[in-house]
Amino acid sequence: MNSSPSPCHSGVLRGLASGLGISAIGTARIEPVEDAVVDSYRRWIGIGHHGDMSYLDRYHDIRHNPELLLPGARTIIVAAFNYYPSRIQRADAPQFAYYAYGRDYHEVVRDRLRRLSAEIESRWGGESRVCVDTAPLFERYWAVKAGIGIIGLNSQLIIPGKGSYFFLGEILTTLTFDHDSPIGGDCGRCGRCISRCPAGAISSDGSVNASKCLSYLTIEYRGDLPEGSNLGNHVYGCDECQKACPHNRNAKPTDIDEFTPSDEFLQLDIETLRNLDRDRFNALFRHSAVKRAKLEGLLRNARSLSSADDFVTL
Ligand code: SF4
Ligand code: SF4
Repeated sequence: MNSSPSPCHSGVLRGLASGLGISAIGTARIEPVEDAVVDSYRRWIGIGHHGDMSYLDRYHDIRHNPELLLPGARTIIVAAFNYYPSRIQRADAPQFAYYAYGRDYHEVVRDRLRRLSAEIESRWGGESRVCVDTAPLFERYWAVKAGIGIIGLNSQLIIPGKGSYFFLGEILTTLTFDHDSPIGGDCGRCGRCISRCPAGAISSDGSVNASKCLSYLTIEYRGDLPEGSNLGNHVYGCDECQKACPHNRNAKPTDIDEFTPSDEFLQLDIETLRNLDRDRFNALFRHSAVKRAKLEGLLRNARSLSSADDFVTL
């Protein structure tokens, strides 16, 4: 066992990752998050753009210093998993965000990263911790640090040549790898995501007012929708700012089977969704990210949509 692997180990890491369906992987040195990023996040919270997601206003000490998640952690490994679907819903169906088409990414990404983490520990030792939305991490910040991509004006992580339909997961490790460098540059700032956003949630400085975003309203927000909310045809999440982005023009369908939607899912129509009962909801979404909205939230959304004939085609 060697707690200070030589630089060549990052190449080995990429080899290990390719067998796990990982589309991009990189490593960054763990150190406190840059002050400018911390300040910007504090301002965003301060003006209430996180809506009711109070968990985003907790654990700031950990968010600003991931070493608190794993004492002695030296490296954060960031991995990206493609979820762009090969088949999509009909345009006249209530739309689910692509990321929710298949099996819950928390399960799929966690299982694969645990396998990678076990491989790393057996080869080089050290201690590690897998995070898949399970810890307060600025994951896109770390993905940039690890040289995987850039952050677009729509706040999504964009992988050059591949687009933004990717889940991110992280492994913190006490091992020291050779670290990757940020790619640099910006997304091109074409502004299409801003014009396309049905909620007017994206600012020209690249900040997103989550409290207006349809992803937040349809998934995270509990209770009656705020007065004047217009979900269009979005029943769970929203991909409009990604669909508008030219970086996604050449997105390739995922080859991760678990993210492939079932026929039953693709056939869901507005009447079926409006009349879901708990048994059907559980059968359909037990292993799906959609369960986060709960039956009550999905029914609320489905019943807020106008009839399919009136759906806004965006
Ligand atoms: S997810 Fe939809 S509502 Fe949210 S910022 Fe993107 S386009 Fe706007
Ligand atoms: S749509 Fe244009 S401005 Fe928005 S993230 Fe993509 S490239 Fe950047």
